[in-house]
Amino acid sequence: MNPSPESIQNQDYQIPVELRQQVTITTLDRIYNWGRRNSMWPMMFGLACCAIEMICTAASRYDFSRFGMEVMRASPRQADVMIVSGTVTKKMVPQIVRLYNQMGEPKYVIAMGACASGGGPFKEGYNVVSGIDKFVPVDVYIPGCPPTPQALLNGLITLQKKVDHETIKSARWYRSDPVPEIPVPILGPDLIDVRRIEAIRQTIQTLADEAGNRPQEGEA
Ligand code: SF4
Repeated sequence: MNPSPESIQNQDYQIPVELRQQVTITTLDRIYNWGRRNSMWPMMFGLACCAIEMICTAASRYDFSRFGMEVMRASPRQADVMIVSGTVTKKMVPQIVRLYNQMGEPKYVIAMGACASGGGPFKEGYNVVSGIDKFVPVDVYIPGCPPTPQALLNGLITLQKKVDHETIKSARWYRSDPVPEIPVPILGPDLIDVRRIEAIRQTIQTLADEAGNRPQEGEA
């Protein structure tokens, strides 16, 4: 019988049946990924109606502790996965980015539901953003409005499968050139992504130049 994908045993090697309880052959990557995939602690925060489904998923009927996710952490410094569960309003984006920056590596993001993935029913609304992936990197998207607890469990299992394929050689948090923090957007009359300030300045300048060259009323 082959070991299950969740096993620490390297699938490429077969251990004789009589030794399976005593001996295992594995790789450093497999131990590393196995440890993380089975202790994925979500951050305890929710944004809107999808958060209710997330709470159900943690409760006894669906019980995501079966997958190693029982310890929801109220502190971003102790969390591994941010489940963005709900409508992402412009007012909340600076807080979400700040929390993401405060999480230690390795860290993952799940966009739960239509709102977090792309704006959902409020897309193009004056007060929401069209997906949290405009600001933080998303690992798994879960469709639905709202996604069911089963869908969230499937998203978490999908994240575990993604972790299974990571390697220490290329992991973001072991690179010699560290990934810089994401600048926290500024909330004024509208939300400003400070990474786009130069592009915004150029657009304003272009519009101003065009307005200056436009013939005024009464001119030939
Ligand atoms: S996707 Fe639907 S259920 Fe989820 S937060 Fe948006 S409106 Fe609510």
